[in-house]
Amino acid sequence: MATIRNVGDAVARIAYLSSDVVLSVQPALGRDSEFSKALNIIAASPTAGIATKNPEVLTLRHNVDPLLSAFKPLRSGKLVSITTSSAVLLPSIPHLYKLAQLPVVIHVALHPYGQPDYSEITAIRQCGLTFLQSETLQEGQDIALSAHALAARSGKGVIHFFDPANSEEDDPINGEDLALIRDILAENPGRQTQADPSGSLYVDEGRQAIITENAVTSEDDRQIQPSSANVIPNVPSSKPASGAESSASSSGRDSSVDSRPSISSATSVNSTTTRPVTSEDIHNFLSQIWARIAKITGRHYQAFEYSGPEDADCALFVFGSTGVFVDEIISSKSTEEFAKCGIITARLYRPWLSTQLSAGIPESVKRIAVLEQIRRKTTKWGPVLLDILTSLRTGPASAASPMIVGHQLGHIEPATARQALRGIFQNLKSPSPIQNLEVGSRQKPANRVDEYSLEQPKVETAYMKILDQVFGERLHVANRLGAANAGVSATIASNPEFGFGALLARAEHRKRFVKEVQEAASSRDFVTGTPQSWLSKWALAAEDKQKSNNLANEVIARLNTDGSRLASQLLSSKALFYTESQWLIGSDAWAYDLGNSGVHHVLASGANVNMLIIDSTPWSERAAADAERRKKDIGLYAMNYGNAYVASVAVYSSYTQVLEAMIEADQFNGPSVVVAYLPYNKEDDSPLTVLQETKKAVDLGYWPLYRWTPTNEENGEPNFTLDSERIKQELEEFLRRDNHLTQLMNRHPQFSANLSESYGTEVRALQKRRAKDAYDRMLESLYGAPMTVLFASDNGNAESLAKRLGNRGKARGLKTKVIAMDDYPLEDLAGEENVVMLTSTAGQGEFPQNGRGFWDAVKDSTDFDLSAINYTVFALGDSHYWPRKEDRIYYNKPGKDLDNRIAFLGGKRLIDIGLGDDQDPDSYQTGYNEWEPKLWQALNVDKVEGLPEEPPPITNEDIKIGSNFLRGTIAEGLEDASTGAIAASDQQLTKFHGTYMQDDRDLRDERKAQGLEPAYAFMIRCRLNGGVATPSQWLQMDQISHKHGNQTMKMTTRQTFQFHGVIKNKLKPAMRAINKALMTTIAACGDVNRNVMCSTLPTKSVYHNDVYQVAGKISNHLLPATTAYHEIWLKDATSDEKQQKVAGDALIDQEPLYGPTYLPRKFKITIAIPPHNDTDVYAHDVGLIAIKGADNRLEGFNVLAGGGMGVTHNNKKTYPRTGSMLGFIPADRVHIACEKIMLVQRDHGDRSNRKHARLKYTIDDMGVDVFRSKVEDLLTHPFAPAKPFHFTSNIDTFGWQTDELGLHHHTFFIENGRIEDTPEYPMMTGLREIAKLNVGEFRLTGNQHLCLSCIPTSSLQQVKSLMAKHKLDNLQHSALRLSSSACVAFPTCGLAMAESERYLPELITKLESCLEENGLRHDSLVMRMTGCPNGCARPWLAEVAFVGKAYGAYNMYLGGGYHGQRLNKLYRSSIQEPEILEIMKGLIGRYARERKVGAGEGVRMEDAGGDGKGDGVERFGDWCIRAGVIRETREGKAFHEGVVEEDEED
Ligand code: SF4
Repeated sequence: MATIRNVGDAVARIAYLSSDVVLSVQPALGRDSEFSKALNIIAASPTAGIATKNPEVLTLRHNVDPLLSAFKPLRSGKLVSITTSSAVLLPSIPHLYKLAQLPVVIHVALHPYGQPDYSEITAIRQCGLTFLQSETLQEGQDIALSAHALAARSGKGVIHFFDPANSEEDDPINGEDLALIRDILAENPGRQTQADPSGSLYVDEGRQAIITENAVTSEDDRQIQPSSANVIPNVPSSKPASGAESSASSSGRDSSVDSRPSISSATSVNSTTTRPVTSEDIHNFLSQIWARIAKITGRHYQAFEYSGPEDADCALFVFGSTGVFVDEIISSKSTEEFAKCGIITARLYRPWLSTQLSAGIPESVKRIAVLEQIRRKTTKWGPVLLDILTSLRTGPASAASPMIVGHQLGHIEPATARQALRGIFQNLKSPSPIQNLEVGSRQKPANRVDEYSLEQPKVETAYMKILDQVFGERLHVANRLGAANAGVSATIASNPEFGFGALLARAEHRKRFVKEVQEAASSRDFVTGTPQSWLSKWALAAEDKQKSNNLANEVIARLNTDGSRLASQLLSSKALFYTESQWLIGSDAWAYDLGNSGVHHVLASGANVNMLIIDSTPWSERAAADAERRKKDIGLYAMNYGNAYVASVAVYSSYTQVLEAMIEADQFNGPSVVVAYLPYNKEDDSPLTVLQETKKAVDLGYWPLYRWTPTNEENGEPNFTLDSERIKQELEEFLRRDNHLTQLMNRHPQFSANLSESYGTEVRALQKRRAKDAYDRMLESLYGAPMTVLFASDNGNAESLAKRLGNRGKARGLKTKVIAMDDYPLEDLAGEENVVMLTSTAGQGEFPQNGRGFWDAVKDSTDFDLSAINYTVFALGDSHYWPRKEDRIYYNKPGKDLDNRIAFLGGKRLIDIGLGDDQDPDSYQTGYNEWEPKLWQALNVDKVEGLPEEPPPITNEDIKIGSNFLRGTIAEGLEDASTGAIAASDQQLTKFHGTYMQDDRDLRDERKAQGLEPAYAFMIRCRLNGGVATPSQWLQMDQISHKHGNQTMKMTTRQTFQFHGVIKNKLKPAMRAINKALMTTIAACGDVNRNVMCSTLPTKSVYHNDVYQVAGKISNHLLPATTAYHEIWLKDATSDEKQQKVAGDALIDQEPLYGPTYLPRKFKITIAIPPHNDTDVYAHDVGLIAIKGADNRLEGFNVLAGGGMGVTHNNKKTYPRTGSMLGFIPADRVHIACEKIMLVQRDHGDRSNRKHARLKYTIDDMGVDVFRSKVEDLLTHPFAPAKPFHFTSNIDTFGWQTDELGLHHHTFFIENGRIEDTPEYPMMTGLREIAKLNVGEFRLTGNQHLCLSCIPTSSLQQVKSLMAKHKLDNLQHSALRLSSSACVAFPTCGLAMAESERYLPELITKLESCLEENGLRHDSLVMRMTGCPNGCARPWLAEVAFVGKAYGAYNMYLGGGYHGQRLNKLYRSSIQEPEILEIMKGLIGRYARERKVGAGEGVRMEDAGGDGKGDGVERFGDWCIRAGVIRETREGKAFHEGVVEEDEED
């Protein structure tokens, strides 16, 4: 049996086992209470509850009115317990009165820890609850159990309180005895409680716990038999049973102080009567519970407990921490000092049973010292003293009762306990004892921190930062946490109610000030003549925000120079010259109550006050259903109120919308309510988690983004603006009622579909049922045995196998249906005849997305009888996916689990499970080809003749040929408003037009659960030759991202702009806008030559221009010629061109360079200008190294061919490759050379296998020399020998540089190329402001940064001040961060297996302290990350790289060349963050110690220093190889050789 060491754990475990729901109240979500750790441990363990199998544990912050959450489950008949500190009790008094009449148990650890204040218990003693106290660890366990049994039995609320420090030194006890708990709870079943969903929180419902008695009584025998009583709560107290009454029921709720036992007046014979539960009932129930515990355990408990000699002459009644005194009295017995003293404590504090008290004290006791540990004393006599006096000094025996002397108990250290006791007894025994003597210290121990103090979580500062940014000095937050307010506690000062009062006072103050100014304007007391006129101007404009603020500076300046007394007097309140933007903040974390009554007060006042109310409850079914806690409805309430500006915002969904809302709220003349979403589970949640939670809530309409200006209608504008796409029912109803919804739909027809979409799982169930019924109807017309094929598939393999199997089954005469597992109505499974299941393997041996629901149901069900079905399973996986031996269990795990489970549920195997392995020669097909024939055999259809020939699968080549020069059905697909998607074949074709269809993967699961299609949106990639944009193009890109995209732009690793989140109906407008900006998207993706890159070269503008021109020339030369792009995207719908058919016969296209099938695969060209390899010249199909002539102008290029990055994990036939040198070509011929290389690839590339189709494989298959000669044949001349060149790095040089013409260039650090605004960093706004100056140009770098180029000296200062204003000049990052790069990956990239752009910054932060410790903060180390092996951020050329393998798991590569010249090699597979950090920290430490510095052996020439070409330090990648950490990869084909882990396995 487990050992329990502290009372919080003992109580928490009992609470868990005895409840359906435990509300765990904590100081903060990320900070534990006395109970929470144990609760979480037991909840995560397989231990089943006793009340219910899986009790629910809900975590609540202490200041969010936690007891409110008890009502809902209680009303639905659940057994509820609450674990909390005493800090919540006083604010919860209104709830306690109601909870007293419900069978809830509240376990209270008294606070502050070490010296608890028992006044928190005495203050609530009249609430009608039963109060039980425990002192020791064992008592804590037993009394907790007693409390649950009593609540169940009595139907009344029970508070079990204890001082956790009191039992700190107790010996550990055994864990709870489950048999005992079962026994005690079975005796006192609590399930009689009836569910009652009705009832209001804000009115007294008149509920009272009542006893029903089947009493066999007579006129003479009026004694109730309590054991026959049943508790039935929820009978209104206004209808008590015939004459039932008790002393406790007179108040209608209290069983508080009961001086004498109550007697029922039941008089009937054999009748059933009801009456309220009395104090005596409570005592009787408790006595029975304790008798049972005593019988089983031998431990005895009583309402009042006396310990001490039977002949004691005096006693202490302690209502406080008893530990020190008990120890002292017991240990001092031998010395006889306190030999005749006893101690009394109240085990049952309420109801207070006087008879029990007097019965429990030996008659010999003549004097009793009452010690009350109460710090907040409100009356002269302590409440416990009064209770005791009432009990012992009234009634017949009062004359002989002991003398009672009250004491106040403070904190007593064990070392001074004896001394304190002496003092108490001295006083007690003196002839005239002093009443209310203070014993011990009032101060709490200094080493105890108050865990329950207020704190603003870091994550919440986002909104405060925006307020600061928008309003600057004008901002006044009336209840700012931590603001100094003389004489007001922090808790009160941060309270919105306090803030509101302060604001009203401030408004009065300003009114007075305006009057003072008016008077001063006509005063003659100024020294100079100017203040008067400015003051009167200001006074006239004082109520006009804009004007008064504009004038304020002028007025203040005049007053400053005046120097008179009057001027100084006015200046002493100079802040009042400005019209402040006044805000109240409500936050769950530190100012909760604005969510309740505060809003009403502000609205009712009509005052011009802005409220920002932060809701941090993450979206979940539960939160969505718990209407009482939904702050989003505050917006609805305020709109209904009618006089307020209302906005619902979410900073992690739309930063711009937050800005707009705050500005509008400030401008609105009246109350404004901005309800702001910021969901987190713990205060230290990562921004990524908050972002994902926000997106879910906004997308589903749980948290709609909108703005409501009630006065807009007066100006003919709509009151309501919807900024997100979906709203939920309540809001919809409000808008519909006032006709706003119709207006909205008229304004934005595209919203109507979204607005009317339904929610909920019922819809999903209905969809499944309809699909299945349709199948069944279809099958009725067929003959043959039925075969149901169910599949679960993430990447389509299992799905297409399933479909093919279905077709083949049909051809064999079977009645087949094929359906995704999650689309299948599970209740039909048991009735099937033959079921075939195919599943692939996701993540760490998990089910694919569309099979998870099915698997969960099959796995968890216990009552499925599948004995009537025949079944088999085929599983797809990769036996080498997880290289570590212990992870091999994940290989095909879903399939194997399913096979076992169905067999367990009675299913009969048709044939054994088939296993498809990606490692087999034909991948999973190898296993499948063996398995399928066995299936036909088992179904007796293996010998069917005349099977039709199967059409071969459609390939990309087929799609290209059939597309009519890239038209396909794109145009028709764009018109289809019933879906956000386009056809699968068009998805391939749109790539050639520069756009990919994607779906938001953060939302996939949630939308699926809601029965919605994925959140489809498009990525648009521009074509930007050489990566140079004008300021006006920059502005237009910025505008497109806001108008059509997700308000961010990505600068890619190939020097161009990418927009994400463009929904289908915005795709065409976005394309048109890009073209209007004189840019295009054609051939930005697809099997064509893409954007041509070029080094940014900020130091030499003339030379850069030479090379840049060539980039443009090559790009234009290789553009596809199809007119489809123009037809589909650019034609004006209103022009005559509209008549022309998009894919019709009006035009016959030609593709002179590409032909109808274009290239076998994508084709990329880049130019690098030595010594900068910032475009990674070795990584592209064609890499051009610019060579300078003697005249310092461009002479020509060394040409590399066959570089490429993309690989497939574990497929050794795929590998990255660095380009091979073909030779030199003069500048004027280079576009022709590129063309010829492309043509050789067009004609010789492998079109049968896209994984082997890139130029790198063509060259390796052919040999470099053969390839070169083929190109030379087409060129009709040979390449000249390559010219010497020298690279020093492939990263950017940040900061300002001046070129040879005196123009200035600044390279900004843009982390992973994402241009966006955040509360911390308004980068997008800053760059927009700079672009508006219309100077210079914007060069995008190949490392995803930005070089603001060609700034003339005359504009330099202006640019610099804008940079400073928007924090764009901050380059104080570690060199590791400056050298890092990540691809997009989640949430938009469909291929992503792991996070990249959103995770790399976090990983780097975690490594920076280690770099610092090793003195490497300023040493560059090229680190790259991608979400999959497609390699968009060119990871295989980095010194260290992480490539996504599964969510949260990465393959790690080491040994790349510092300037991108050498490939790295796999070092570890599928490692997660802890392992990554451990490995990296080890390597960084070693590198710092072992690297060579200065020219010499081991230091490569380019790093040798001394000649200005290097810093003389051995690079990390080079060191990894020299130190033997990793083997060098000399060429692409050797990429997989010598991989450490694989060798080990061999
Ligand atoms: S590397 Fe993979 S995950 Fe990253 S953006 Fe490219 S395709 Fe997507």
